[in-house]
Amino acid sequence: MTTTTGRRLASTLEWDARLAAVAGKHAPRIGKAFGYRTVGDLLQHYPRRWVDKGSLSDLGEVEPDEHVTVVGRVRDSTLHSYADRRRGGVAYRLEVDVAIEGARLSLTFFDKKQHLAEWRRRQIVPGRFGYFSGKVGTFRGRLQLTNPQYQMFGEPGGSATDAEDEAVTAWDRLPPLLPIYPAAAGLESTQLGKAIRLALDLVHEVPETLPEDVRRRHGFVSARHALEGIHRPGSRAEKDAAERRLRFDEAFVTQTVLVQRRAALRALDASPRLGRDGGLLDRFDERLPFELTAGQREVGRAVLDDLAAGHPMHRLLQGEVGSGKTVVALRAMLRVVDSGGQAALLAPTEVLAQQHHRSVTAMLGDLARGGMLDGDADGTQVALLTGSLGAAARRRALLDAASGTAGIVIGTHALLEDRVRFADLGLVVVDEQHRFGVEQRAALAAKSGDRPPHVLVMTATPIPRTVAMTVFGDLETSMLSELPAGRAPIQSTVVPVAESPSWLGRAYERIREEVGRGHQVYVVCTRVGADDDGPEAPQPPGDAASEPAGPATASVEEVAPMLAEGPLQGLRVATLHGRMPADRKDEVMRAFAAGEVDVLVATTVIEVGVDVPNATMMLVYDAERFGVSQLHQLRGRVGRGGLPGLCLLVTQAPAGSPGRRRVEAVAATTDGFALSRVDLEQRREGDVLGATQSGRRSSLRLLHVLEHEDVVVEAREVATRLVEDDPDLERHPALAEQVRRLHDAERADYLDKG
Ligand code: ADP
Ligand code: MG
Repeated sequence: MTTTTGRRLASTLEWDARLAAVAGKHAPRIGKAFGYRTVGDLLQHYPRRWVDKGSLSDLGEVEPDEHVTVVGRVRDSTLHSYADRRRGGVAYRLEVDVAIEGARLSLTFFDKKQHLAEWRRRQIVPGRFGYFSGKVGTFRGRLQLTNPQYQMFGEPGGSATDAEDEAVTAWDRLPPLLPIYPAAAGLESTQLGKAIRLALDLVHEVPETLPEDVRRRHGFVSARHALEGIHRPGSRAEKDAAERRLRFDEAFVTQTVLVQRRAALRALDASPRLGRDGGLLDRFDERLPFELTAGQREVGRAVLDDLAAGHPMHRLLQGEVGSGKTVVALRAMLRVVDSGGQAALLAPTEVLAQQHHRSVTAMLGDLARGGMLDGDADGTQVALLTGSLGAAARRRALLDAASGTAGIVIGTHALLEDRVRFADLGLVVVDEQHRFGVEQRAALAAKSGDRPPHVLVMTATPIPRTVAMTVFGDLETSMLSELPAGRAPIQSTVVPVAESPSWLGRAYERIREEVGRGHQVYVVCTRVGADDDGPEAPQPPGDAASEPAGPATASVEEVAPMLAEGPLQGLRVATLHGRMPADRKDEVMRAFAAGEVDVLVATTVIEVGVDVPNATMMLVYDAERFGVSQLHQLRGRVGRGGLPGLCLLVTQAPAGSPGRRRVEAVAATTDGFALSRVDLEQRREGDVLGATQSGRRSSLRLLHVLEHEDVVVEAREVATRLVEDDPDLERHPALAEQVRRLHDAERADYLDKG
């Protein structure tokens, strides 16, 4: 530890003092970039990596692809602008020539914004010393680092000898392990480091979230030691001990929140929904055209038991793509309607809400035409409520929900709006949604009087146990692992166009053959139009922002006419994407479901849940641009009707590239569990938790729920014991404070998404 007692005596700052107290003029920028407001927030900005000061590389021995950290003097730097073909507009490239003990190294920095590029050029000026850290590549025969981490010494504009002296002194003063902080636009890792070290010196008291006995049992260092050890470790061992402790903290706070929530739910009353003999559920079961699978029966029983209990159900139903979750949900909804209540089905997209409305209405037949001449005397009605409904239709749906005429209301997030009222909302089913937070729950509970509704959450992307524990830790979980009998397997094939362009022609022939047999085909593109990234463009994981523009990708608006006038001439081709008006989307999906369209060229609007059993083939362009789970979901749209499915994953990604490997992983297995692991490993934990893409603070930094399963499990146990003992955390104020902050962060996130 480098902090001396003397310095600590002078400390004056509280943990929740304002950021400006240590970050000065950088405070607003730090606040904007990371959402930090206090000194405590800043101290929880942990380094991304630590570089061994002692292991600086000697460039003479460096091989391409090796990771190096070097100290050198900037000889020259030039800022270039260039046309960014992929994104359009102008981008900036700063080329820097660095002298390192006789050797030379090029650095290249890419920036999208002019002011950032210029800010960087002002930092990295000739004469200045710095250290640079990154993976070595070669360019025009010279060693090069692209977007390296760096830290500059001294002030820009000083004399060369001064700069060198200063660099030497600065270097000597550097600790043995240099922390590299996640930086942000216009903020160097060093500036963050400086503020953080000042905060460590000045902060009075670091709140201790872990009870003393837990700390002792696990051999964890104190909260204060942990912060010292993570920000300025004296050794690797010290850093590791700090990391272990802080990682446990993250798991512990998250689990405490979840355990508390679960306890709170158990303490609530809900109306038991017991159903009745000979009601809608019984009549529906009688006329089901297929046998329920063993899994559907078992999960169905568990759900009906939950509904009959006096506490709100909170169950997560995981099921492989095509395992038949909708039927399970519909049966639960009918049970609630049989008990005089209403059920709401919340879908993530309009296309899916519309499809559910169509298929539920069709499956129920006259049971869904209650009160109508040709309807069943005991029947109910199924209403559809989405954001883009016309005024009259919306008024009608709102009325039917409020009066109770509609026993089942299907919709998008529009269902959560204030003005939506129910006569007696008994059950909410959330389909294909990774996240349905407390806020959404509260919004719905408010619609059902003082008694919260039962909640069933369904997800088609199976997730590993510890992820479920972290993301859905307050839910009971059930699993549908078997597919209905007679499902033919989906064959997936990678079509690498870069290596064999002729394969694409063969792929188009296969489409014709498939249509010739009376089947239908999806063609999936990443973009809507030629000129946009499209709001539906997927974000490929791990793509460096500065990656040079790749080859053009296919768009719906270009591909559809190209196919219709070329290789698929004579076939009925239609398009579907998120920018079409809702009624048009509905019309197209109806036509496709009715077999009036042979080939549907679409964006990922068809990704989840779309169910057209006669569709047997899918061709995905630019498959490397999709995430693993996304491809698995997409592929799940075919092979649903007992006919074998074929999925062609067209990719321009070269063999061995991360994108290509992703596509190959999807082609190699249809096991959703295996794939979700691959997927989660590639994504940031923040995304796993549904948190911010915008880089706003996520509550998990050191904890990787896949890698640290044991930590999650242990934290869960400790949290459970603690909450049993002290439900309101009255005797654990520091923990209570962290818990409150996590709640707040979640709320902010919810409000952001609106
Ligand atoms: P997912 O779990 O992916 O949401 P769905 O609920 O959409 O799957 O079901 C997929 C298809 O399987 C639907 O067409 C549905 O009618 C059908 N299905 C559901 N259960 C069975 C079953 N037990 N036997 C045969 N087909 C079934
Ligand atoms: Mg579904």
